[in-house]
Amino acid sequence: MTIDLSKYTRIPSLPTVALEVLKIFQDPNSSLDQIVAIVRNDPAIVGKLLKAANSTTYTTRGEITDLKRAVVMLGRSSVTPLVLSFSLAQQSVGTSLHSEYYRQFWLRSFVQATTAEVLGAQFGSPTFRGECYTTNLLAGIGKLALFRAEPDRYLKCLQRWQDGDASLLRIEQEDLGFTHVELSGELLKQLGLPSRCVRAIQLLDSDVTPTAADSSEQESLIQISRVAHALAALMCDKTPGVAIVALEEALSNLKLPNPLSSEELLGLVQDRVEATARLFDLDPPQLPSPSEMLQEALEQLSTFAVVANTSDQQKPVPIELMEENGRLKRRVADLLQASRTDSLTGVFNRAHFLTQLAERVAVHRVRHQSLGLAVVDIDHFKKINDTHGHQAGDYVLKLVAESLQHGLRDSDLLARYGGEEFVILMEDSNAAGLPIIGERLRARIESLAIQFEGKSIPVTISIGLSESPVICEESEFARQLFAAADAGMYRAKHSGRNQFCIEPFMADSMACEASDFSARLTRSPIGAR
Ligand code: GH3
Ligand code: MG
Ligand code: MG
Repeated sequence: MTIDLSKYTRIPSLPTVALEVLKIFQDPNSSLDQIVAIVRNDPAIVGKLLKAANSTTYTTRGEITDLKRAVVMLGRSSVTPLVLSFSLAQQSVGTSLHSEYYRQFWLRSFVQATTAEVLGAQFGSPTFRGECYTTNLLAGIGKLALFRAEPDRYLKCLQRWQDGDASLLRIEQEDLGFTHVELSGELLKQLGLPSRCVRAIQLLDSDVTPTAADSSEQESLIQISRVAHALAALMCDKTPGVAIVALEEALSNLKLPNPLSSEELLGLVQDRVEATARLFDLDPPQLPSPSEMLQEALEQLSTFAVVANTSDQQKPVPIELMEENGRLKRRVADLLQASRTDSLTGVFNRAHFLTQLAERVAVHRVRHQSLGLAVVDIDHFKKINDTHGHQAGDYVLKLVAESLQHGLRDSDLLARYGGEEFVILMEDSNAAGLPIIGERLRARIESLAIQFEGKSIPVTISIGLSESPVICEESEFARQLFAAADAGMYRAKHSGRNQFCIEPFMADSMACEASDFSARLTRSPIGAR
């Protein structure tokens, strides 16, 4: 659609200096002197450029006190993005009614630009790196224009978005008939941003694949911007569960010379944001670690997935995740699978085991069935590492996991609890079955005959097993069942290893009764529900 731009021309964040610098940005023949001439009348920006040139990020010898030297030092491809950032940052401070909105806007743009710059740096050219930064710094400018032109109407869109109704772009499309991304593209075209940057912004949230007509640099800029857009959403928005899906998708489409995982990229961006924050008079943001951020995103995603698959539609699920046949849906399934899996062995991880234990205890209680649990520990594993090396140790872990898995029924759940320990949840278990399972697993591992780099590595395991119907409060039962199987495993170790021991489940009735009154008090390691 065509957008009536006349309503949206008052963008508060592009003051004269920024507009002039933008013009220079698109003119490859412009000189550093021209930049100096533009910025020298803005004392705040001069001060910040000097600070940037003297900062550790752009290490140098001797203090730089002269603007020209600072500009030469920083280089053309760094100065333009920096001046634009300073101008934007200036708009975000102040005491206006909506200063919090501007502050958040600026921070998000800054994170997006920094991400794009980190990725762009892999391609070697400083000009390209600067272009990645500038494009992404300005990508959200349509939001500012909308906010300025129709604050009340736009605030309603933002409110719906905060409530988790759908993505902001979808809400804008419904309420306004166009999105801020489209508006950003139009505005920046008018302001003279190079067309390849405008195209990258316009394609930010679409799944249009770059065409053969796009140069490889254009394609990289599009893909980098999509990654940066998703990462900023993961760090700054309220629906990291949706953003993680988009981030993984965008990262897998980006052909980086040195591929990065989402966790590695988050770490790099965080370091850089922290290092540069003080240039913009921002307190370095107190962010959780990358792995905590990803964990939180995956937890939200799995809640969405559960809600989407039940009839309980009280809690809103972002529409994107509900869509049938969508590419996102496939990604969601992949990501959830990955979040439950131990990456080395491919079996379930500890977090998934703990969730499943709690769920299965509840189900077995209702059905009056027994639940069985085994704890498996590889014997003298440290010696295997010491004798054959860690790679051999890793290889042994994989083969042991695979062999245990093949020795179990489909309904049993095998997980790596940590290090060289595995746990197995057994459905509808009974006392007569435990020795059969214990011996089967012991014998399987003993007969593995593992070969690594021409050497044979004998491996054995010690197993503890226990089973019981759910006879006390659920989290207490889970804790005591695990403790019993664990005690069995230690008894097997002390009795000479390479064997199994069955530990009778004897509920500590005092604890069970007491726990009925303190059912919400969680206990480690298993009590958490
Ligand atoms: P025990 O028979 O009493 O269980 O002796 P152990 O040597 O198996 O037990 P210990 O707890 O002393 O050592 C476990 C070792 O497992 C130490 C640790 O370095 C190693 N380990 C833990 N995780 C991994 C892993 O992912 N890969 C490899 N290669 N080794 C691991
Ligand atoms: Mg151990
Ligand atoms: Mg061990």
